[in-house]
Amino acid sequence: MSDAFSRLKSVVGDKGFTEDPGEIAPHLEEWRSKYHGRSSLMLKPATTSEVAAILAICFETGTAIVPQGGNTGLVGGQIPFHGEVLLSLQRMNRVRAVDAPGMTMTLEAGVVLARAQTAAAEAGLMFPLTLGSEGSCTIGGNIATNAGGNHVLRYGMMRALVLGLEVVLADGRVLPMLKALHKDNSGYDLNQIFIGSEGTLGVVTAATLRLFAKPAETVVAFAATASPGAALGLLGHMQARTGGLLSAFELIPSIAMELLLRHIPGARDPLESPSPWYALIEVAGGGGAGLEEQVQAALADALAQGFASDAVLARSQAQAQDFWRLRDSISESQKREGASIKHDISVPVAAIPAFIEKATAAVLAKFPGARPVTFGHLGDGNLHFNFNAPPSSGDKGGDAAFLAEWDEVQLTVHDIVKEFGGSISAEHGIGAMKRDLLLRYKSTEELDAMRTLKAAFDPKNILNPGKVVPPVRRL
Ligand code: FAD
Ligand code: ZN
Repeated sequence: MSDAFSRLKSVVGDKGFTEDPGEIAPHLEEWRSKYHGRSSLMLKPATTSEVAAILAICFETGTAIVPQGGNTGLVGGQIPFHGEVLLSLQRMNRVRAVDAPGMTMTLEAGVVLARAQTAAAEAGLMFPLTLGSEGSCTIGGNIATNAGGNHVLRYGMMRALVLGLEVVLADGRVLPMLKALHKDNSGYDLNQIFIGSEGTLGVVTAATLRLFAKPAETVVAFAATASPGAALGLLGHMQARTGGLLSAFELIPSIAMELLLRHIPGARDPLESPSPWYALIEVAGGGGAGLEEQVQAALADALAQGFASDAVLARSQAQAQDFWRLRDSISESQKREGASIKHDISVPVAAIPAFIEKATAAVLAKFPGARPVTFGHLGDGNLHFNFNAPPSSGDKGGDAAFLAEWDEVQLTVHDIVKEFGGSISAEHGIGAMKRDLLLRYKSTEELDAMRTLKAAFDPKNILNPGKVVPPVRRL
C-alpha cells in the first residue's frame, strides 16, 4: 500500500497531495456533520493526465479512491469511510472555453458552480443551474449527482445541460467525449451513464455544457394560497398565462414562514396576513413585451379564480432576492429550530396534493406532535418533505428521542412515495445514506442492471466502493 501511495504522490508532485491531517480534516466531514470519514492521503491533481495516471496506479494496485468536489453532497457520497484515498478535483478549475455563438462552455470538473454562472454571464449568456450550495459545489459534483435545484421545471436537471464529458475510467483510460453536439445518435450515450453515478463508475474531469439566452426580464412574485391543491391550480394557471415562461415555482408552508421570521435575521413576510401556504413564482423572458404587466394580470385572475388569496410582485432586484432568500433559508431556519427528519422525494406533479395529505396524516398518526415542514419544487414534483421535532422536545434529549424515530418516519414516508410512483431521491442522490433503501424500492431487475454496469466499469471495485449500489441481500 505504501508503495502505491509513494507512486501516487510522485505522479502529482509536491503541490498535488497532502498527508496533513489538519488539511484533510474538513474534507472528511460533510455539511450536516452527519458523516465522518477517514483518509490519510488526499490527492489534488491539476490535469486530466494526472487523474489518468492516478487511476491507472489505483487499478493496478487495487487501491480504493473517493472523488470529491466541493464536499456539499447531502448523502455522504463524497466521504471516504474506510480510509480510501481522497481525490479532490478542486485544482482542476480552468474554464477551457466559452463559445458564445454556439452557446456552450467547456469547464474542468473543479470549477465552482457560481463561477460557471459568472463565466456564462460574462459572455452575455446564462447557465441555469441554481442551487443553495452554488458558492461551493463544483461542476464535477453537479454532474456526478445530477443536481436539480430551482430551475428544473424550465431547464431540466444537470443531465439536460450536459452535451459532452471527459471521463477517466477506473483503469486510467480517458473517454474523450467533449463534443458540443445537440444531436448525436452515434451509439450509446455514454455521457449519460456517468451523470448521476456519484463517482462510482468514472471520474469526470471536464464537461461541455449548454448555455441559454439571458432572459431580458425576470419577474418574481410571492403569493398566498389555501392548499397544495390550490397551489397546483396556480401553477397550471401561471404556465398557461405566461406561455410557458415560468422558471421556478416553489411551495412554502406557513410553518416555514414562522421559522424564518423567528430565526433568520431580516426575514420579512412579503404579504400582509399569514396564509396556510405560499408560492414563490419566477417568470423569465420578455424583451419589451411587458412581462411584469402580464404576470400582474395573470395573478389578478388567479385571485379571482381562487387559486390565490393575495400576491405581491418584487419591485426591485433587491426585493426579488429577499423573496428568494426566504425560500433558500428554510433549511437553515429548520436547523436553528432543532432536530428534523428529512426526505428528498418526488412524485408526479399532479399527485403532489394527494401525496402531501396522505403522507402527512400517516406520519402524524404514528408520531403526534411532529411538525411537518413540507416545501420545495412544486413545479417539478420534488418536495423536501421534512418534519421538525415537537416544540416541547426543545432540549437535546427531546431532539435525540425524535431523531431515534428517523428510520420509522422514513419508512412510512417512502412507502407512500412508492405507492404514488415516486422516487426516494429526487435530487440529492443515493450515496451512503440511501443505498440499502434501494433494496426495498427498486426492482430486482433494476438492481441487477445497476450491478452489471458497476462491474463493467469498475471491475475491481475501487471507485467510491460501497456507495450507491447495494450488496446482494443474503437471506
Ligand atoms: P461533492 O459533495 O464533493 O460530491 C458529491 C458526489 O459526487 C460524491 O459521490 C462524489 O464522489 C462525486 N463526485 C464529485 N466530483 C466528482 C467528479 N469530478 N467525478 C466523479 N464523481 C465526483 N442539490 C440539489 O440537487 N439541489 C439543490 O437545490 C441543492 N441545494 C443544496 C443546498 C445546500 C446548502 C447544500 C449544502 C447542498 C445542496 N445540494 C443540492 C446538494 C449538493 O450541493 C449537490 O449534490 C452538488 O451537486 C454536489 O457538488 P459537490 O461539488 O459539492 O460534490
Ligand atoms: Zn431542492
